[in-house]
Amino acid sequence: MQDEMQSVEDPEPKGMFECSLCRLKAPYSYYGPKPPNARSLVLLEDCYTMNDPFTPQRDTFLILGSHCCLCKTVVCVGQECSLFYTKRFCIPCVKKHIDEFPEEIQLDLQKKKQ
Ligand SMILES: [Zn+2]
Ligand SMILES: [Zn+2]
Repeated sequence: MQDEMQSVEDPEPKGMFECSLCRLKAPYSYYGPKPPNARSLVLLEDCYTMNDPFTPQRDTFLILGSHCCLCKTVVCVGQECSLFYTKRFCIPCVKKHIDEFPEEIQLDLQKKKQ
């Protein structure tokens, strides 16, 4: 039996991303502010990204998540887990420091609870 050589064009996954809140798990291929296949785009934060497996275009990628700027925990970009307001915050930190966020963020969070 012969090994079928698969052309490996995608960068090897660097490791496993796991959100510490919702336990979302996915292999990530890049961590940093500028994913290699994102062309001119520069992210506002260091993010875990992976190539989008659902689109054939090579320049699409998914942002999986990032580190909370306060407690450094790994969180996904899901609305239940984190919030981006100039920096990435996990929802527990947002709740802890809610008074320091602008009113629109506070209202947003209240809406989510309902
Ligand atoms: Zn999550
Ligand atoms: Zn946090």
